[in-house]
Amino acid sequence: MNVSVAKKYMQQHIELFGDEIYTLIDHSDGSYNKKFNNLGSPHETLNSFKTLIENCEKCNLSITRNKFVFGTGDPNADLLLIGEGPGDEEDSRGEPFVGRAGKLLDKILKAIGYNRNDNVFIANIVKCRPPENRNPLPSEVEKCTPHLIHQIDLIKPKLIVALGKVAGQTLLKENMLIKEMRKKTHHYNDIPLIVTYHPAALLRNPSLKIDVWEDFQLIRNFMKS
Ligand code: URA
Repeated sequence: MNVSVAKKYMQQHIELFGDEIYTLIDHSDGSYNKKFNNLGSPHETLNSFKTLIENCEKCNLSITRNKFVFGTGDPNADLLLIGEGPGDEEDSRGEPFVGRAGKLLDKILKAIGYNRNDNVFIANIVKCRPPENRNPLPSEVEKCTPHLIHQIDLIKPKLIVALGKVAGQTLLKENMLIKEMRKKTHHYNDIPLIVTYHPAALLRNPSLKIDVWEDFQLIRNFMKS
């Protein structure tokens, strides 16, 4: 970390937490050290967590990224959508699902009466763009998962929706095909989880829209229950 980044970080730190020492120490089991920081304290917000991790350098994706893509939406959302990782446009803007696939996702959400800023939060398995839009490597997923777990702990959604194979397989820790993961309510750390196709898959293969529509009916019914 260079001096100006370190200074900016300390400044943000003081604004957010005063002179309380706030370090990010995560353990191999994915949990964070709660002893010397206020992670998990009533003062912690999704925004303060973002400030804490947005300069993450835990894997090489930090070298090639333009922007860290933490996620956007309602910090108290009941519905948490999880994609794979930022693409080109997301990497430039620092927001998830803002390209073509994101526009389709917005339409799908609208069709079930939701929008990305109201009762919905959108995040990804990895927070930084994998070069050439390749799938994230297992080591990158492993290093980024504690961030996602902590986001989920803070948001406490009623339902998680995994968008696509990478998100589904990562959250379920299974090598299943999408068609095997769909149409069931699984659980991720005790939170109900539904898997559906990634909106980019719909752009490539519009015939999947029927299946996705079915999945989003299930999601809407679950959310109403
Ligand atoms: N695809 C993803 O999985 N996530 C994004 O944020 C954008 C495209």
